Amino acid sequence: MVSNSKSRVFKVAIVGAGPAGYFAAQALQNLQTPELKFEIDMIERLPTPWGLVRSGVAPDHPKIKTVSKVFEKIATAEGFQLFCNVELGKDLTLTELTNLYDAVVIATGTSRGRKLGIPGEELRGSLSAADFVPWYNAHPDYVDVDVPLDTDTAVVIGAGNVAMDVARMLALEPKELDVTDTANHALAELHKSAIRQVHVFGRRGPEHVAFTSPELRELPKLEHTDVEIGECDIEDALERVSIQGELPKDVKSNLDAMMLVAKTPKKGNERKLNFHFLASPIEIKGKDRVEEVVFAINEVKDGKVVTTSDTYSVKTGLIISAIGYEADPIPGLTYVDGKVSNVDGHVENSNVYVVGWAKRGPSGVIGTNKSDAAGVMELLVSNLREPKPKVELSEKLQERGVIHVSQSAWEKINASEVAAGEPLGKPRVKFVKREEMLGLQ
Ligand code: NAP
Repeated sequence: MVSNSKSRVFKVAIVGAGPAGYFAAQALQNLQTPELKFEIDMIERLPTPWGLVRSGVAPDHPKIKTVSKVFEKIATAEGFQLFCNVELGKDLTLTELTNLYDAVVIATGTSRGRKLGIPGEELRGSLSAADFVPWYNAHPDYVDVDVPLDTDTAVVIGAGNVAMDVARMLALEPKELDVTDTANHALAELHKSAIRQVHVFGRRGPEHVAFTSPELRELPKLEHTDVEIGECDIEDALERVSIQGELPKDVKSNLDAMMLVAKTPKKGNERKLNFHFLASPIEIKGKDRVEEVVFAINEVKDGKVVTTSDTYSVKTGLIISAIGYEADPIPGLTYVDGKVSNVDGHVENSNVYVVGWAKRGPSGVIGTNKSDAAGVMELLVSNLREPKPKVELSEKLQERGVIHVSQSAWEKINASEVAAGEPLGKPRVKFVKREEMLGLQ
């Protein structure tokens, strides 16, 4: 790295190679001056980087994934090194990192699905989006998730964008996914799927959904799936909100988008995606696997959602809950409400910082992490004093027999996946086995 005799070079370890980690690295790169330089080591548990851009974003949303070009620019800037296939807590401890580096940034996200906490949730056929999404996205740890698609009806719980992704993946004509980077194992199963009806349930009204309007506006454009939203559900919501004065822009935009879906003439497709509101799941029934889910009917009273004693049930063989995430704890850190305990991104009395969903919980789009990380990195820099002696992580890993995937090794994996996709008209064919990826070194 180019540094003059007066420049101070600080070493920062960023744990987690997802959007929050890359944007933290970018923020540090942007804060460099001739007097202040950073050497950044990014550590990632998987053999591949990009986090949710690789294993979260829906395969039919390739445009969102183009942010990976920004990540690659950050990764090839001076002073940046990638260490994939290195797990904090197994190959290295947090204490080791905090001793070796001037600062450690935790960007490990929130990978555990929140539980519904209702009877029957443990039955076969009831799973979390936190398992289903990485399954169809070729995450090596989720290849063997049991996703029974031999049922004509699927139920998705939650009214957020993850529920929307999950519902689309189940309701789309699988041929539409042939040109995407959906994992081969999932694509094969989706082609055999018996599902023809997907029902999405929100516990509050249409005025309270966490979907965003661009996602809602895609729905009437689906060619092989008829999307149904009750016009009266939206009219009732409009009536409820009319007494509140001027509506927030996003609520108005969502209600407009849902009304458009409701009014769009249906094409008579066999595949159907239906949205239901004001219903909370209270029990999942079944002997050896999911057979039925019971909902309590909710109503809005004085602007508040209350559960009534009325119920109804839906016969189904698959329930996917998409009701938020919490962090998988890292030894040595304290967690509150599924997030790393922090003050403005600083883990108090330490040189540890936290960014992204591990810091603020699972909210916001990929770009939200950019401004969020920039603020935390400014705080980090303001707390730096004298640089510690240089460290060479690769030597330490070598001593321990840990084979890491460097930036150049990742570039080989990346190129190989893209090349495999080309003749098939896909953006890439993802490897799922760690050995295959490590074999390319
Ligand atoms: P989310 O936006 O917070 O939505 C969670 C949904 O689950 C809400 O509708 C919530 O209802 C519901 N819920 C929570 N607990 C429940 C329970 N016990 N029973 C029934 N419903 C329950 O979370 P997400 O969908 O996981 O998304 C996380 C973030 O990623 C969001 O910011 C999202 O926009 C973003 N994302 C973006 C995209 C995209 O840009 N295309 C794609 C995927 C995800 P209440 O509101 O009533 O609590």
